Amino acid sequence: VENKKIQTEAEENLRSPICCIMGHVDTGKTKLLDCIRGTNVQEGEAGGITQQIGATYFPAENIRERTKELKADAKLNVPGLLVIDTPGHESFTNLRSRGSGLCDIAILVVDIMHGLEPQTIESLNLLRMRNTEFIVALNKVDRLYAWKAQRNAPIRKTLKQQSKDVQNEFDRRLMEVITQFKEQGLNTELYYKNKDMGETFNIVPTSAISGEGIPDLLLLLIQWSQKTMIEKLTFRNEVQCTVLEVKVIEGHGTTIDVVLVNGVLHEGDQIVVCGLQGPIVTTIRALLTPHPMKELRVKGTYLHHKEIKAAQGIKITGQGLEHAIAGTGLYVVGRDDDVEDVKESAMEDMKSVMSRIDKS
Ligand code: GDP
Repeated sequence: VENKKIQTEAEENLRSPICCIMGHVDTGKTKLLDCIRGTNVQEGEAGGITQQIGATYFPAENIRERTKELKADAKLNVPGLLVIDTPGHESFTNLRSRGSGLCDIAILVVDIMHGLEPQTIESLNLLRMRNTEFIVALNKVDRLYAWKAQRNAPIRKTLKQQSKDVQNEFDRRLMEVITQFKEQGLNTELYYKNKDMGETFNIVPTSAISGEGIPDLLLLLIQWSQKTMIEKLTFRNEVQCTVLEVKVIEGHGTTIDVVLVNGVLHEGDQIVVCGLQGPIVTTIRALLTPHPMKELRVKGTYLHHKEIKAAQGIKITGQGLEHAIAGTGLYVVGRDDDVEDVKESAMEDMKSVMSRIDKS
């Protein structure tokens, strides 16, 4: 009984899982995010900012609404899902690894018309090296010849309504991709046929254009996170937070974009971040987020918060942040902490970031 109680309490006190999207260029990573979010970053809504990192928060209610046609009786215990969008450009390897290093789970996107490509394999190896859970999105199913699209339909429903020829073509291409993964030493299977989850990785067919398969992808992301990472996702009071970017925003001065992985941040918290000239001790003046479903990079109005619980992408304003260094940790000086100790931890972080930069 006691164990059961602990289990229930743990399930009720979870942070949102952090998810990133990886894969070869042009497989539809940006378009998939746009489709989930209902925005259009891919066609330039975010105007020239597509080479930066972004974070979008999807509240659980939104995911529940989007997945209701699947009639899953599954409970969504997490407050939501935080999706980190990492740039695909070659020269952004550092940013990319910064973003993907924070992830609990990843979506590995494969174009059904192209199968595995060089960066698919690169991403796959990175995920395996880090032991990161992932789900394969077999994207662009709408490009199969004579495909009949049904907006936002669950994948099984839409597949059933395709002609025999389309179904055969789908099966043939799916088998090809499964074989290619096998050649990389990885077992994969359509998620609803997968009887060996854990050993065999899940494939969700999707279209970022028609939204088909997106309900399946969202539900599986949440279910799989809840099933395999309860411990990792348990909310803790200890702050775990990484600086993604430092930038000047009109009307806000210098701000830092951070990903709060665990814990809580409050307006007025005393914080320490790494700076080029040593640790920066300052106070959080404002905690800002975009509206849910909007991305952190896209200009617009921000929501002000008194406090924010993990996981979230947050913009922080405060004095002296202009020399902060991306990729390092943000530390909170607690009531019983000695500022000097916290400064020391911050600078330890900086050493490891610097040695990583030297190596690359
Ligand atoms: P990224 O480089 O992986 O971010 O790929 P993009 O999201 O920029 O997409 C590359 C191209 O493929 C764009 O022209 C998209 O409109 C197109 N695309 C992406 N997803 C789909 C899809 O599901 N179906 C079709 N037909 N086109 C897609």
